[in-house]
Amino acid sequence: MLMSRKVLGAATVCTLLIAGATEARDAVLLRGHSGEVVPASSLPKFTGGSGQKLTIPGGPTFNITYDDGAGVGFNDATHGANRKAVVDAVLTYIGERLDHTGTCDVVFETSQSDGTGFLASAGTLYFVGENDYAGGFAFDHLTTGTDPDGGSADIYCTVDFGYTWNNDTGPVGPGEFDLYSTLLHEMTHGLGIASLTNSDGTSQIAGTRTSYDNLLFQISGDVKVWAAGPGSMNFQASSLNGGTNTVEFRGAQSIADYAGGATFPRVDTPAVFAAGSSVSHFQSPNSITSGSPTPEATVMQRSTPPNTERREFVAFELGALEDLGYTIKNTSSSRDWLMY
Ligand SMILES: [Zn+2]
Repeated sequence: MLMSRKVLGAATVCTLLIAGATEARDAVLLRGHSGEVVPASSLPKFTGGSGQKLTIPGGPTFNITYDDGAGVGFNDATHGANRKAVVDAVLTYIGERLDHTGTCDVVFETSQSDGTGFLASAGTLYFVGENDYAGGFAFDHLTTGTDPDGGSADIYCTVDFGYTWNNDTGPVGPGEFDLYSTLLHEMTHGLGIASLTNSDGTSQIAGTRTSYDNLLFQISGDVKVWAAGPGSMNFQASSLNGGTNTVEFRGAQSIADYAGGATFPRVDTPAVFAAGSSVSHFQSPNSITSGSPTPEATVMQRSTPPNTERREFVAFELGALEDLGYTIKNTSSSRDWLMY
């Protein structure tokens, strides 16, 4: 408990959850983009049953809960049904690619409406003090079928509907942000494309780093950003705000599917460190020199302009999920198709 309070006092990071205690283990939600760290005790409890169940044939089951009150956000009289249909479409897209039959509990917290700050944020929970690299609750629940903490969801997401959105699965229009693309991005943070790091390399969640963190290398000096292995996850890089082409994601599958395997995908490390965003995204433009996928197509880049759709993972992003420990279905054919 003390540890988790310490974490709570710390943070700003993309979307990580610091969730509450279960038995002897404290967990924490880190919200992507905002970097807000939230104790589980402050999160809406996951009640199951009150939401919607989406089962992918031969794949995972998503239990979806919406916390919005009547008439607003995902329950908006005009757009609510379409917005929920977008959620279903995004989770179906993800679920059809995961060769796992576990479960993922997703809570859409009370939506924002001020049209300032982040379009949306999301993240998964991690136990405090793992003394190791961790995949997070969503990874654990999806891949093992065992719920890490029945009182908490696996992914929490908040959307700001104060912006002008394309609320359905039709083409995005001028001036609109694409809800589908945004939710695909946010859910993928929840799957585990997320760093827990502070600007100085310490973790926002004491004693715990992510499986994604475990695959990051500083290009200069060929240094693993954090030392290998349980209990020795010390920061070894010189900085996390070195600008472009300074840190890369060295997952074997990501490079296998990335621009012919010439180089690893680069990680976003802007000169001004932004907790919750820096390191948790792929750099754009990336290090691709020619051919596909085009840098602009990546789902997991830091920001998006309006009138832009990024509704499909590029090949190296699916590879990165595989590197985190997921089994991806129909590997070659889906990746070929995804190359655009
Ligand atoms: Zn993000």
